[in-house]
Amino acid sequence: MSVLREPAVLVVEDEPQLRALLRAALPLHGYRLHETGRGLEAISLVERAPPDVVLLDLGLPDLDGLEVTKRLRLFASMPIIVLSARGRESAKVEVLDAGADDYLTKPFGMSELLARMRVALRRVLAAPTDEPMLEVGALRIDFGTREVWVNGALLRARLTPTEFELLTCLARHEGELLTHRRLLEAVWGPDRVEDTHSLRVFMAQLRRKLEPDPHRPVLLRTEPGVGYRLTAGPAPDRSLG
Ligand code: CA
Repeated sequence: MSVLREPAVLVVEDEPQLRALLRAALPLHGYRLHETGRGLEAISLVERAPPDVVLLDLGLPDLDGLEVTKRLRLFASMPIIVLSARGRESAKVEVLDAGADDYLTKPFGMSELLARMRVALRRVLAAPTDEPMLEVGALRIDFGTREVWVNGALLRARLTPTEFELLTCLARHEGELLTHRRLLEAVWGPDRVEDTHSLRVFMAQLRRKLEPDPHRPVLLRTEPGVGYRLTAGPAPDRSLG
């Protein structure tokens, strides 16, 4: 995928008003727009020319967005951001576990949507690395020494291997929503995907070690009932140090 051309976005949405809004706004922000109101057509459009990112409504007239996600994931890997009016947590979890990358509940602001799209595309464009160091915003992780810095300050509390794994997994997907199941599978393995209790306990420990105020986390965000998202913020100003 070339970084030089404008990213292509496929909008799969049957609401005319939202379609019109996206059609007006997205090209202004540098996206090439393709659109359809039907799930089956979305699948054949992706088969013919995979876009860089898909915006997918859950409630479509012919095929549910969850089913569209499952079928797309059989052959395509571009990020899928789900747009839905449904507030049910289980619907979010289901579609994220089926392979969607993020979830926005309607009504949402255009700046929020653009931010989520940037995060999703950055993941696609980022080259896989096996660097000794990972730096995202205010967070820096050294894989050799297993030391962690927040805002330029070395953490005094050492992380246990599991805490370190969990933090690394979240940091590698900075800004992305990771479901409980996805985190449990990545850190604890496929046999432990139901063990949300362990995950909660380890997240609490990580917050105690990393967050200035563990009860008001700014780095490790909770998406209630769904999962977690690491928001690393801006890098520290090095000119001062
Ligand atoms: Ca709809």
